[in-house]
Amino acid sequence: TKALHIVGGGMAGSEAAWAAANMGVPVVLHEMRPKVATFAHRTSDFAEMVCSNSFRSDDDERNAVGLLHWEMRTAGGLVMRTAQKHRLPAGGALAVDRDPFAAEVTAHLKAHPLISTSYEEVTELPSDGNWIIATGPLTSSALAESIRSATGAEALAFFDAIAPIVYAESIDMNVVWRQSRYDKGETEEEQKAYLNCPMTKEQYEAFIDALLAAEKTEFHEGETAGYFDGCLPVEVMAERGRETLRFGPMKPVGLTNAHQPDVKPYAVVQLRRDNALGTLYNIVGFQTKMKYGAQTAVFKTIPGLENASFARLGGIHRNTFINSPTLLDSQMRLKSRPHIRFAGQITGVEGYVESAAMGLLAGRMAASEILGQPIAPPPPETAMGALVTHITGGAEAKTFQPMNVNFGLFPPIDAKGGRRGRKDRYKAYTDRAKEAFTEWLS
Ligand code: FAD
Repeated sequence: TKALHIVGGGMAGSEAAWAAANMGVPVVLHEMRPKVATFAHRTSDFAEMVCSNSFRSDDDERNAVGLLHWEMRTAGGLVMRTAQKHRLPAGGALAVDRDPFAAEVTAHLKAHPLISTSYEEVTELPSDGNWIIATGPLTSSALAESIRSATGAEALAFFDAIAPIVYAESIDMNVVWRQSRYDKGETEEEQKAYLNCPMTKEQYEAFIDALLAAEKTEFHEGETAGYFDGCLPVEVMAERGRETLRFGPMKPVGLTNAHQPDVKPYAVVQLRRDNALGTLYNIVGFQTKMKYGAQTAVFKTIPGLENASFARLGGIHRNTFINSPTLLDSQMRLKSRPHIRFAGQITGVEGYVESAAMGLLAGRMAASEILGQPIAPPPPETAMGALVTHITGGAEAKTFQPMNVNFGLFPPIDAKGGRRGRKDRYKAYTDRAKEAFTEWLS
């Protein structure tokens, strides 16, 4: 059997190696640590957790990330199995003792008869063989350069600039209206592509005060190398002058409030559709380094968003990722070089769990292909399927930013209304997912 080469022994690479080797495919796992360091990793272990020690919610009935845990466990994933063994008390979250966790993942991979390791940096995209690139948010610069020349400069980012994403159903349409600035666009859909939240002068002034007062997070040491001012956080724009936002992303021109056509808004916050399903909207220009608690408090003061629930909050991080919606096919292969797959955070998912899940999937897909029995991706009703469908096609390519798993990525199930209704509906999502995942696995 031909070998599978995996670059990067992080969350994704470890899980991919385990999945492929357990299907009978020999794996070479390439890892640059300890020879080449990153600013975040401390050890030379595989699957090192670089920051928090949490895999987030373990609730597989009402939480999308908990459902992803369930799917990974059901598929025999190494990360979840080992996490369970090194679990620490943390309420409903799956927190682990990070060093023994990573040491055990490393030991399992090294003991596997079909896995060998190479502790060298891979500096170029290989021209033949079967490969998975899982080099993560801190991909070495030589390899990043090689990816960039293969994909084009526009298709590889070194920082993310994440604006908060809101569930469409939680936006108050009695306040908000649909309209593109100056009704631009060929079709009616394009002319009404944005959701608009109007602000009075008083509301705008209070909003600026709240932005200025909000608690912010700092970049980690070493994280800002190569950062440039191209995409300023919304609170930094506010610091540059009280009117900056009103002449920037919050400008009220070219818009008429459909609910109150005679009242000219003083400022407008716009939201743009974030996925093909139309279940998610991002707040345009609102990338931010405010702390999560502050973000929810400040953004809920926006008229129409008082009851917003957020599929993800904003952030700006050092994060190498490719424009997967344009570059990858549904098998996670680079369209221009199908012998290369991408997996993990570099594909534009975000977080330990999502990255490991994409590793598991890429490992299975690559191994199946090598064994001459290619498999279809899991259906979009599953957490893994929803994520891979999002990054390889469902997401808006032009504004593509990293995504974590959430129910907004799933084909919708109708609401029965109210908070209680939403909880029941989450259970309906996970029931449907488990059934579909079990069937896919078999
Ligand atoms: P990684 O786990 O980073 O693994 C990639 C591996 O590839 C690394 O071991 C690296 O050494 C290796 N590598 C890179 N280039 C090469 C090369 N050219 N040749 C060979 N090997 C190479 N996620 C969370 O869920 N919670 C958090 O709190 C959190 N905090 C974070 C804080 C920071 C500062 C950063 C940078 C990321 C954080 N993340 C967090 C994201 C998290 O790191 C990723 O989601 C996850 O580790 C990604 O898994 P991965 O396998 O894609 O990449």
